[in-house]
Amino acid sequence: MTQDIRARLCWEETLRTIGGIDLARSEFLRLQEVRKAYGDLRAVDGVDLGIEPGQIFGLLGPNGAGKTTTLEMIEGLRRPDAGRITYGEHDLVREPRVARERFGVQLQTSAFFELLRVDETIDLFGSFYKHTIPTDRLIERFELGEKRKAYVQNLSGGQRQRLAVALALVNDPEVVFLDEPTAGLDPQARRNVWDSVRELQREGRTVVLTTHYMDEAEALCDHLAVMDHGRVLDEGQPQELIRRHRPGAFIELAAEVPIDDELRLPGLERVSRDGAKTILMTQRLDETLSALAEWGRSREVPLTGLATRSATLEDVFLQLTGRSLRD
Ligand code: ATP
Repeated sequence: MTQDIRARLCWEETLRTIGGIDLARSEFLRLQEVRKAYGDLRAVDGVDLGIEPGQIFGLLGPNGAGKTTTLEMIEGLRRPDAGRITYGEHDLVREPRVARERFGVQLQTSAFFELLRVDETIDLFGSFYKHTIPTDRLIERFELGEKRKAYVQNLSGGQRQRLAVALALVNDPEVVFLDEPTAGLDPQARRNVWDSVRELQREGRTVVLTTHYMDEAEALCDHLAVMDHGRVLDEGQPQELIRRHRPGAFIELAAEVPIDDELRLPGLERVSRDGAKTILMTQRLDETLSALAEWGRSREVPLTGLATRSATLEDVFLQLTGRSLRD
């Protein structure tokens, strides 16, 4: 038995004894050649994915990439035109009941009943299931105690989002689906949602989320699938994707520096501009930096506002799609 497997079994045992969900029930989620078109538009165009139990799995992509449609097909809310979706030995296209019982789905907060109170909302959602987490426990866990009798319409953005995650947990699911869980939240509220997501994982649940925030994907997800135009362009751990597609680092100079594309520095791959900034992409940061410093000294060019940074998922996305996620 390898060390990894032994560590995992030990972790699973710990979760069972502290009252987390029974991991033995969690299963491997698999999509094979899944397709969905709306008229002529191929919203999901042959997607293959494997999601392992206990993972935080992210679907990353711009608006219209097909993320929500993919989630909705797994959740049993939309029927694929073609392909297979299985959870362990269950075929979810034929048995959507399995998805309803064992998965938890975060609703868009716009779908709430504004004139219900917080506790009534949780009770209502709980009434759809046989096995539920008690309302009081969810209210306490998501720090909604002070708002338990408040109308949903009077909640702040962060509170609505916490309620949305609480509702996704009402049936004590094995897999939790979160569609853009931090869209529109301020930085503090976003971090609170990240903490809740990590806690779901610590309890042994699998989390599948969509996002178009690169920092969120990098900080939170164990495994990422980058989607665009209904296809998965690549997948892997965030750092693995960065190493594969955009190894190396960047040197940025705040002010305009008369560096041209012909500059030959060791390791330097490309020079580009972003507004007034000059950006050097390098495969060997140390060597490029010292040669650049030497070049600046010999030409008496001040290297104003010099900063270095590692490649990020933003750079991976640019490399894979030819455009920035924010375009
Ligand atoms: P976003 O980040 O904006 O939510 P997404 O990656 O989740 O985008 P989807 O919502 O799955 O993408 O949409 C994929 C494509 O399918 C888009 O072009 C969208 O306009 C289209 N689409 C989605 N739902 C429908 C529908 N019910 N009828 C027609 N077209 C749809």
